[in-house]
Amino acid sequence: MSDYYDVLGVSKDASTEDIKRAYRKLARKLHPDVNPEAGEQFKEVSQAYETLSNPEKRSAYDRGGAGAGGPGGGFGAGFGFSDIMDAFFGQGGGGRGAGPASRTQRGQDALIRVDVDLAEAAFGGERSIQVDTAILCPTCKGSCCQPGTSPQTCDICHGQGSVQRVVRSLLGQVMTTQACPTCRGFGTVLPSPCLECSGEGRVRARRPMTIRIPAGVDTGTRIQLASQGEVGTAGGPPGDLYVEIHERPHPVFSRSGDDLLCTLQVPMTAAALGATIPLETLDGAEEVDVRPGAQAGEVVTLKQKGAEHLRAQGRGDLLITLEVVTPRDLDEEQEELLRRLAELRGEVRPSGKLSETHQGVFSKLRDRFSGR
Ligand code: ZN
Repeated sequence: MSDYYDVLGVSKDASTEDIKRAYRKLARKLHPDVNPEAGEQFKEVSQAYETLSNPEKRSAYDRGGAGAGGPGGGFGAGFGFSDIMDAFFGQGGGGRGAGPASRTQRGQDALIRVDVDLAEAAFGGERSIQVDTAILCPTCKGSCCQPGTSPQTCDICHGQGSVQRVVRSLLGQVMTTQACPTCRGFGTVLPSPCLECSGEGRVRARRPMTIRIPAGVDTGTRIQLASQGEVGTAGGPPGDLYVEIHERPHPVFSRSGDDLLCTLQVPMTAAALGATIPLETLDGAEEVDVRPGAQAGEVVTLKQKGAEHLRAQGRGDLLITLEVVTPRDLDEEQEELLRRLAELRGEVRPSGKLSETHQGVFSKLRDRFSGR
């Protein structure tokens, strides 16, 4: 006899739900009504299901004990009638719920991606966008019918949306309820469906809209716009629109959370003597104080000059890393002055000095940005 798990195509640790799902799938394919050739295989699948769907029988089977009856055991006790009906007609075995289905359904949510500049992301703004979406049909206004006509009660199901059908199964003839194939369960038919929307009550269109970008968004932030998604069928309410932000890289400033980062080039002399250096930031001209003796890699912080916090008051900081620029193209006089300076400082033959790892410029930088 084949392994029951193999028969159902599930793993040894499959949940009861998995087993049920696997069985339903196979039963739809192998049931004698559908596939008269597959009778033996269906029997095998049913046996496997009978055993594995019952925790006690399953654990007995796993321990190597006798499974469900022997060959030809068929449907023993515990194999409910509703299980077969489940496999065919969805839950309950009795078909769809009472009453016809409504043509009017809520529309789907939609997702679009919007590219924004760093300044827009940091400080917010407004944006005109185009959204490809479903809108209410302008011709029928969601009635789904050509103007002057209206839905008619379905002759086949008399407005019930469902019909009774006799199905042959292993258990004999069974009466079952199904969605009416003529009206697709709606209980009404459209004698003259609207030509513009083919009776759906909505059409596809490109809709322009203006959205507000909140200050402090970042790549990956999703903004939910209630009821701005796809309009539903037959005048159904729209779903929501989600706008996913994607921030374009900025040539000068980068972002670390709500802090902004940049690198400022400082002449060697200014780093040695100290200076106040103008800097054009995202929100205007600022001045950066470079202390006398500033070192390459040193970071000057401008408090509250970063991006706005998305969900709180206040802003991040602007972190300016100093890059000390060694002068090149010296003229004679400048070179002379520097030689004189080197003499005065005893640096004509500098000894050089290895800095300790944890004090090095790069490790300091690394520590700062990794938050150590
Ligand atoms: Zn229409």
